[in-house]
Amino acid sequence: MVIDVQEFNQININFETKTAVFGPGNRLGEIYHKLNKVGYLISAGECIHVGLGGHATGGGFGWTGRKYGLASDNIVSAEMVTANGTFISPINSTHHSDLFFAIRGAGNAGYGIITSLTLNIYPVHPIVTSIKISYLPEQVELAFIIFAKVAKNLNENLSCYIELRPKSINTYPFSFNAAYLGTEEEARNAVKELIELSNPAYIKFEETTWLGIVDSYPIFTRSPFKITSYNIPPSGFSQEAIRVLVNFINNLECESIALFDLYASDVISGISINSSAFIHRNIFGVMELEAPLSGLSKDDQIKCVKKHLQFRQEFQAKYTSYFSYQDYIDRDLSDWITRYYGPHVPRLIEIKKKYDPNNLFNWKQSIPTKLP
Ligand SMILES: Cc1cc2nc3c(=O)[nH]c(=O)nc-3n(C[C@H](O)[C@H](O)[C@H](O)COP(=O)(O)OP(=O)(O)OC[C@H]3O[C@@H](n4cnc5c(N)ncnc54)[C@H](O)[C@@H]3O)c2cc1C
Repeated sequence: MVIDVQEFNQININFETKTAVFGPGNRLGEIYHKLNKVGYLISAGECIHVGLGGHATGGGFGWTGRKYGLASDNIVSAEMVTANGTFISPINSTHHSDLFFAIRGAGNAGYGIITSLTLNIYPVHPIVTSIKISYLPEQVELAFIIFAKVAKNLNENLSCYIELRPKSINTYPFSFNAAYLGTEEEARNAVKELIELSNPAYIKFEETTWLGIVDSYPIFTRSPFKITSYNIPPSGFSQEAIRVLVNFINNLECESIALFDLYASDVISGISINSSAFIHRNIFGVMELEAPLSGLSKDDQIKCVKKHLQFRQEFQAKYTSYFSYQDYIDRDLSDWITRYYGPHVPRLIEIKKKYDPNNLFNWKQSIPTKLP
């Protein structure tokens, strides 16, 4: 059964409390555009096609994540219809605080149907600078190492994602894409050390608006792909890990890319992992390995996915933390429940038993009513 929440698309702004109530059917792009008209934004993901309901309740990291935290960190209240048809409102730090704990990190994992989310909103910065810094194939390894070294000290007005692509003559294989909440001069200053140490092949700064950044993210087409995701330890990847990863990407028949979201922010790590079901806080960032499968025969798709799964098993065991980001859901992940929710699994199961004792909302990776 699929419950369509697309028509839950209201947005009601409260300028006094600097919060807004959102229907979970809103997509991020609609939210960014509507809030921008009144000079505000929410801290959430980069991809404008993503729906708020599943996104914000499992984490939600994007262009302002290092400054204002994840979308789930910004949920101040919610409403939900539970398995027996009860409408619960409000769900916040004082009412149904157990459910409030669960829905910020595991709200997309089968507690009930969330019908509204109230999130903090933030004033839009008048100038936002986009930064693109790219490297040649022979620079990738060093650039990666230098990036890991300087990233932890990057100003929190800067949020970024990094792309690692297969070696090719037409594109730079390693690029750093950032949004800086401020002027070009400030942005240049923020990445000065990175540029001086890594000597990039291409550098571009451009002053734009918040919407200029939002709309610059590549359009997602509805084509099939497989992703595996990895939490990068606080110190970044080792040189050996970088070499293994670059080799894997360069030698695959099915063209794949690695995307990294840099967390490394006091705002994210400063929140206790016991305050919500979201545990991925003291990390360098999250890497997503993406294998686009369109245009491949069924056999080649299967081969490609198998290679990714085998790589994931070895790479995760050797070079990354044990945990994985639940918003990059991966149905093939072993021990997914611990990897997504760590020490909170028993508590999440207790809360599930209270609000959905008969496990009405259940699928392969929903929170169960007893330990698997
Ligand atoms: C192209 C693309 C780009 C992405 N970019 C980012 C990014 O920049 N940053 C980031 O952090 N993540 C990103 N993601 C991951 C994204 O956050 C997750 O896929 C998220 O779960 C999507 O939520 P949805 O509501 O759109 O999806 P859906 O598939 O509709 O829902 C996902 C899960 O949430 C549950 N759910 C949805 N709505 C509700 C509700 N109202 N009540 C209860 N449960 C609900 C569903 O049951 C399902 O289990 C991206 C994903 C894609 C496909």
